[in-house]
Amino acid sequence: MRNSIRKVCLAGSAAIAALFAAVSANATHSWAGMHWARTGTLNIRYADNVSPAWDSYLATASVDWTKSVPIDTSVIQGSRNPYYCNGTYGRVEVCSSQYGTTGWLGIAQVWTSYGHIIAAIVAVNDTYYANTRYNTPAWRHEVKCQEIGHTLGLDHQDEIKTNANLGTCMDYTSDPSGTLGTNGVLSNEHPNAHDYQQLVTIYSHNDGWQLSSTRPATTGLISIAEQSSRIQFPRSTDPVFNPRSWGRAVALDRRGRGRVFGRSLANGVEQTTFVTWTDPYDR
Ligand SMILES: [Zn+2]
Ligand SMILES: [Zn+2]
Repeated sequence: MRNSIRKVCLAGSAAIAALFAAVSANATHSWAGMHWARTGTLNIRYADNVSPAWDSYLATASVDWTKSVPIDTSVIQGSRNPYYCNGTYGRVEVCSSQYGTTGWLGIAQVWTSYGHIIAAIVAVNDTYYANTRYNTPAWRHEVKCQEIGHTLGLDHQDEIKTNANLGTCMDYTSDPSGTLGTNGVLSNEHPNAHDYQQLVTIYSHNDGWQLSSTRPATTGLISIAEQSSRIQFPRSTDPVFNPRSWGRAVALDRRGRGRVFGRSLANGVEQTTFVTWTDPYDR
């Protein structure tokens, strides 16, 4: 009798442990469960406001993330001043510029309404990419891939830069190429199977609505009527590179610096900013 109860308890705690492992893997790798609402196939548009040096990296990142089952992406022509990189309702603006010695290589800023993404931007800082340390295909691939991963709702798989590479761009590293001998041998330049699995989990449900700009056969622009019938997308008066516009740090890296910032805006819109910092000695 006692034995069988113990067995049941053990089996129960094993099941609970497995459940927690599954839940925490999800929790650590999606950011607060945020995602684009969908009733069917999603095609997220990435508007190209980057300098020519970035075009092939944006194209590669788009192809990489389109390999995921629930998400298609396409690159369309942008019309933003990349220095300010203002967002556009219903799509992602991708920018590059000489933002100055801000300390960051790249950021992704995502606006959500009740957990659903309504707009995002990605910016990469050419001030640092002019340095030989960062002006490599591996550093360009990793940061471009990671920031775009954030605009789909993903968080990092690992935040310790000195750990061996996990083979995903969603992993902080000091050597994205995996060839310098400091972070193992895997390349962190592209998504891995766990990223794709995470997207399946995040996008498995039907929301009952979907922005017209994310449907497969559209120009990527949302109608004015649809904008006003849904949530007003706030216009930012602060340039993207101004940390004061990011709000407060809601997650820290190992050095105690904010790596994710959150700010509540009007009309129930939440702004989340993911920051990829340079290594401190590169400031
Ligand atoms: Zn949903
Ligand atoms: Zn990141």
